[in-house]
This record gives sequence, structure tokens and C-alpha cells, in this order.
Amino acid sequence: MMICDSHAHYGEKELMKAIVDSSPLTKHYLCYQAVQFESMSDYDDYMQKQGQNKIAYIPFVFRELSKLEENRKILDYAKGREHVYPYVLLDEDNVNFVRDNHQAIVGVKEHFVMHDTALNERRVAIFADIDKYNLNILLHTRGGNVRVEYVQSILELFPNIKVHVAHLGRERPEDVDYIYWLLEQLRPYDNVFFDTSTIRQTQVLEQAVRIVGRERILYGSDFPFYMDGTGQENIVKAQIDHVLNAELTDTDRSYILQKNFEWLITKGS
Ligand SMILES: [Zn+2]
Repeated sequence: MMICDSHAHYGEKELMKAIVDSSPLTKHYLCYQAVQFESMSDYDDYMQKQGQNKIAYIPFVFRELSKLEENRKILDYAKGREHVYPYVLLDEDNVNFVRDNHQAIVGVKEHFVMHDTALNERRVAIFADIDKYNLNILLHTRGGNVRVEYVQSILELFPNIKVHVAHLGRERPEDVDYIYWLLEQLRPYDNVFFDTSTIRQTQVLEQAVRIVGRERILYGSDFPFYMDGTGQENIVKAQIDHVLNAELTDTDRSYILQKNFEWLITKGS
């Protein structure tokens, strides 16, 4: 079976380190605190060693970064690397970026550190292109009810658009009830799917398969963001093991690790 990672991050190690070391946001946001810089020295080598065949990479979501520059860098990195499937950051200052690059990307990522969880005219114009080229919106929005209402507001405008919800929709990883609640709310929408990144409780994945079905869950690592508290873990191995250790059938696992990626994570044509 191939292993396809639907959620990993790509960025220049030295630049990300400089931001984390100097940003006032580092003390507020976990994503600034939990970066395993050592494993960013050679992405291709690290991922090959973990046996990952295809990888959807996303730029880092640090507020200090230029979205346009990071988006250009990830497209550069993907050039000549058949196994790399780039998401770009949602960039409302460059509304034509998706249209101009739709054949090279799989969609846009929106994150609450960089983006308000609310629709606006420019965002809707970008989503219209996402819809037109059958690309994805990858979401890690503000939490609570807003997380569900926002997805519903997008689907009201674009009923068939593909929405990729990060981290099985979790807010805090230990708040299992919120995950189950969110999955139930989004269960009626077949074109909304979920990735397993940063989820480590096997019972959560098992329950997620029961609620939305194995066709709507994709393995993701969230590399190079660690979850073990010390930063020493092998992130990708830990996230693959989470899928392997859950009580699922081999068929379930083949959907989660490979099949769903192959039809949901595609570049525009
Ligand atoms: Zn992430």
C-alpha cells in the first residue's frame, strides 16, 4: 500500500526559525512553539525514509510571512517533484493567483492565525475559481459553532466545492466530544472531508470512520509540528502508526492512507 500524506508543511528552516525566535506571537500560538526544526534539513530524504509516496505540502501559517512569496516558493519546490502536491495560502491580495496557477496546485489553505473566519468579496472570488477548477479549500478556522457555520456558508454559495477540514475538525486535541459533535454536523455534506493530522487517540479515528465513513478521512502528518511535548518524536511515523494501530479493516486503512488522496488531492486541469 502506498502512503499518501494529505497535510504536511513546507518552509525554509532558517526563515521559520528566525520568525519563531523573534515573534511576539510565539507565546500565544502552539503552531509557533512546536516546530521540529531538525527534521526540516532535508525534506525529500526525511519523507523517503518514512515511506511516504505522495505528499500534500502547505506553506507555514506564520503571520509574519508574505503569502505571495511562500506560495511562489512552494510552487518552485513542487516543480520536477512528481510526489509533491502543493496547497497555497489563501491570499486575498492576489485574487488571480489560483486562476493563474490552477494546474500546479491542489487548493488553498485558510488558517485562523492568518485569516479571519468570515467570507468577503475577494475570498468568494477565489473560491469561485477553486470551485471551477475542482480544487480544495483546506480549513483550520476559529473553533466553536463558527467552525461549522463557516463551512455551511461556503457550501451555500458553492454546494459542490471540496472542503478539506484539518485535524479531524478538532479544537483542543483532548476535547473528543467537540470532534464528534463537529463530525456529526458536517456528516450530511459528502464533499467535506477530514485529515487525521495531530490526532493520536485511536478511538477518535475509529469513531470518525463510523460517523462520516472511510471515504472521507485522509491520513495527514502535520509535519514538522510535533505532538509529544519534547519535540524528539518521529512525527510522521507516529501519525502513520496512529492509523495502523486503530481498530480498522485493511480496506478502511487503504482508503485513509492512499485511495482518498488519489481522488481528492488533485491538481486543476
Ligand atoms: Zn498543519
